[in-house]
Amino acid sequence: MLIKSGIASNILKSQAASKLVYRYGPFRSLRSDTLLNRKNTLNKKLFVFGGISLTIGALYNFYSAYESKRVLETPDLNPITFSKYAITYKESIDDTHFLLELTPIGLNSRDIWKEIRNSKIWSVEVKQPDIMVVRNYTPLPLYFNKKDQRLHQVPSVKHVEENKEFDTYNNSLMFYIKKYENGEVTRWLCEKPIDAIVEIRGPIIDLNVNEIVSDYSSKTGLIPSIQFITAGTGIVSALQLAFQDYKGFKINLVDVCNDIHELGPLKELTLQRSLNSSIFTLKNIETKNDLKLIHVPSTLAKLLDIPYQPQSRSNISTAVFSAVCGPEGFVSLVAGPKLGNTQGQIAGLLANIGWTSRNVYKMY
Ligand SMILES: Cc1cc2nc3c(=O)[nH]c(=O)nc-3n(C[C@H](O)[C@H](O)[C@H](O)COP(=O)(O)OP(=O)(O)OC[C@H]3O[C@@H](n4cnc5c(N)ncnc54)[C@H](O)[C@@H]3O)c2cc1C
Repeated sequence: MLIKSGIASNILKSQAASKLVYRYGPFRSLRSDTLLNRKNTLNKKLFVFGGISLTIGALYNFYSAYESKRVLETPDLNPITFSKYAITYKESIDDTHFLLELTPIGLNSRDIWKEIRNSKIWSVEVKQPDIMVVRNYTPLPLYFNKKDQRLHQVPSVKHVEENKEFDTYNNSLMFYIKKYENGEVTRWLCEKPIDAIVEIRGPIIDLNVNEIVSDYSSKTGLIPSIQFITAGTGIVSALQLAFQDYKGFKINLVDVCNDIHELGPLKELTLQRSLNSSIFTLKNIETKNDLKLIHVPSTLAKLLDIPYQPQSRSNISTAVFSAVCGPEGFVSLVAGPKLGNTQGQIAGLLANIGWTSRNVYKMY
């Protein structure tokens, strides 16, 4: 019995043990295996996922660093290679005119206004990269101040040397642009949003006024006058000089436009400048109201300066040089047609009052 009971107890023990094994053993090992497998699979997945994320992260960082380096590596404004500028301000004046401010990005930090020093008219070439064409645009020495939301004159060299603060002036260039319905570059530019990158090169010197006037000033000791006769966006060439503080010559501007409001915020600045500055006078012809286009030539003719003559004692306003800037038909009317890239003969209204190719320049 004892033996039996011993055996029985052993059997019972082993049954109990096998029950235990049955209840927990096989299932436990199956589950733990599956869990272990799942854990392994999960670990593997996590490892692969982590690896991919790290690779993507590293690639992204590498690309961003490469991109920002590439962006920062843009050269300073120069006439040969293109430099990247960002659109920092854009204002639509009406359906066809807008103002555009371009600010150098990255390490490009050339203060071109300081270098050119007021006595040259200059433009930059803007690239339209889709069709690989360039067009010239004439920067104005103005910048948009975000604090008071107004246009200001770029700080003069004197102010910069005095270290005055111009918080939103970052060597930017301001453009007044007319958009043409079929215009390849103006339509493209007009659609670009703020912060978009535009590539430009320059400066391209369109007229060196200093060279023209220095001879006169040294011979007479007087401050010479330069006459600008402009229409449309041609006015910017005169305003580029008039908005600076150069005292080496006077600017007499005769401008023909449809409506002076087409200048937008430039209108007030131009009128103020002509009232307050001793170097700039504006005579303006608006064609929007009564003035029939047929009367423009005679009205214009009455406002023109005659060429300066040393012996002349007449009270009629004179100038040592005339620059004509505007659409083709206007340039022809005032000074005779341009022949392609050459000046052509001087004809039209200026020729009628004695101007010649020695003292007239047809800009565009
Ligand atoms: C030295 C220089 C400085 C300049 N500065 C400025 C400036 O500051 N602001 C500015 O707006 N422009 C300026 N221009 C003119 C500018 O370079 C472009 O010619 C003008 O913006 C048109 O370019 P687009 O590619 O849009 O038109 P395009 O594709 O060249 O021309 C398409 C059509 O637009 C019309 N069109 C183009 N230009 C004229 C025009 N002058 N008169 C009448 N119709 C025209 C014509 O119908 C033409 O067939 C300057 C030009 C020069 C040479």
